[in-house]
Amino acid sequence: MVTSEWGAIYKELRAQPVINATGSVTLLGGSTPVPEVKEAMDRADSAFIPLIELEKAAGDEIARLAGVPAAYITSGAGSALTLATAAYMAGADDDLIQQLPDTSGLKDEIVMQHREQYWYDRCLQLAGAKLVFAGDENGTSEDDIRAAITDKTCAIHVPVVEQAPKDPNVVPLDKVIEIAKDAGVYASVDAAGQIFPLENFGKYVRMGADFQCIAAKYMFAPHSTGLALGTEEIIDAISRHSFVGYESRRIRGIGRPHKVDRQEIMGCVTAVQRWFKLDHETRLAAAEQESLEIIKPLQGIPGVKAEMIDNIIAHQPFGVTIGVDEDVVGFNNEDLVVKLKDGDPPIWTRTMDNAPLMIHVFGLNPGEASIVGESIAAAVRG
Ligand SMILES: *Cc1c(COP(=O)(O)O)cnc(C)c1O
Repeated sequence: MVTSEWGAIYKELRAQPVINATGSVTLLGGSTPVPEVKEAMDRADSAFIPLIELEKAAGDEIARLAGVPAAYITSGAGSALTLATAAYMAGADDDLIQQLPDTSGLKDEIVMQHREQYWYDRCLQLAGAKLVFAGDENGTSEDDIRAAITDKTCAIHVPVVEQAPKDPNVVPLDKVIEIAKDAGVYASVDAAGQIFPLENFGKYVRMGADFQCIAAKYMFAPHSTGLALGTEEIIDAISRHSFVGYESRRIRGIGRPHKVDRQEIMGCVTAVQRWFKLDHETRLAAAEQESLEIIKPLQGIPGVKAEMIDNIIAHQPFGVTIGVDEDVVGFNNEDLVVKLKDGDPPIWTRTMDNAPLMIHVFGLNPGEASIVGESIAAAVRG
């Protein structure tokens, strides 16, 4: 329900709150920590603690749950990517840690497959590394990857999206890991959303990757936290490059601005512990039900096609695609996104290139699913 309390704290500041029908997106605030997480954050206030030690204890607990050798809590998965590249280039050497982002004399090239360029590959460059794209827009072969590896290569990086259809024109991850091992370079994985089914949580490190990240925003942790999972070697190096290495060890690495506070660390650990004990059947059933509530008011309206997304893998189960037929309703999908944003309350959805809107229930508060469905119905009816 949109009550008078809804978004009141933002309105008091003369800022406009919105209904988030997009999902866990950073531009709207990512996630809302669940009560257990907030309680843990409050309990963290009762004492101070050396953060280098808290990071170690928190990382050990997360590594145990994920079934990987080591883990580290970062300032988001994006920070985990940047710190990992620093670790690939400079390792645990204090002089080299302080040399970055100047990469003179270091192996500073990261190979990716051309078709796997993605939004967050920029995070791989921020510590000074350079991206080298193997193959072309039609695809990449194993030989293309081998040919792209030089004596400057430190790692091969792969983003994993298990919920998307497999691309037959890219080299699959298990092969990439094999090629990396043969060449003596690190195998690096972005698995930010791969938190369900639970056996996928940390799977890529268990397959042999040296590092993978996970975005804690997808587990109702503080939105600003993320996880680095990996070998003891890489995680130890990440700690040395991080903000606690900078302050506790007096070694001034590039990670200093990637700060997390002790409340966030405890909130993140608690969110991961909760995720492993959660009744996921109930979580999935609720997402399916909310998706149906969006579809219900749209059924039978001429020119509107609302369909459930048939997926439970990764971080956003179910959801709805909504497409309008411009000839029937008089406007297109992009216009619908604008109409919803201009509504009261504003509802944020998104489309790419006028494709059907992809709606996710992740960020909807109780009662908001039917508001979304009814607002779309009202927009179409004019
Ligand atoms: C969200 C996301 C990131 C960035 O994570 P943050 O925690 O927001 O820094 C990186 N990669 C992928 C695939 C993501 O979905």
